[in-house]
Amino acid sequence: MKSFNLIGTCILSTASILLPASASAQSLDAHVHGEANMAIVIDGKHLSASLMSAMYNITGFEHAPETEEQREVLQTAKSLLEDGTQLFQFNSAAECVLTSSHHNLSSTEGRHDTDEDKPETDGEHHHSHRDLEADYEFTCKKPSKLSSVRVGLFDHFKNLQKVNVVTLAGGQQSAAELTPKRETLSLSGS
Ligand SMILES: [Zn+2]
Repeated sequence: MKSFNLIGTCILSTASILLPASASAQSLDAHVHGEANMAIVIDGKHLSASLMSAMYNITGFEHAPETEEQREVLQTAKSLLEDGTQLFQFNSAAECVLTSSHHNLSSTEGRHDTDEDKPETDGEHHHSHRDLEADYEFTCKKPSKLSSVRVGLFDHFKNLQKVNVVTLAGGQQSAAELTPKRETLSLSGS
């Protein structure tokens, strides 16, 4: 019943503002294996993208890595998420460059559960699910030429089947659904 406690980050808050009231906190708070949410904001030359996903979609597990294989999976995921250029491929004419990226998987690795049977204390009814949050900033030299972005998440994260995207550009908000068969999102800069 305390789902709103989860809205503790600017990433979620940004996306909440963007979503229409009908689809607001409910869909964002939902931790759905196979689905992720993304918010893209285009403001002149500045473009930001926020990704929220069940960690399962990215790594296949939702806890600190326990085996060598899991450590490798996590390391690979972290590298991909940090890079960002493989995950967001804008049409080249817009000349978009990644200027910053951030994700919360590093904290997952450092969190070794010493008391394995003891539930975590950051929520009254905390269960074992965990979420990935990642955000990216791009600068586009020619935003007027911006027309599309290919989202490469499906290439690398096979558990991911759907990304619900909300885009805000030039005061216009739009929503779209990306899948492994539809990885390219239409954009129009301002
Ligand atoms: Zn989960």
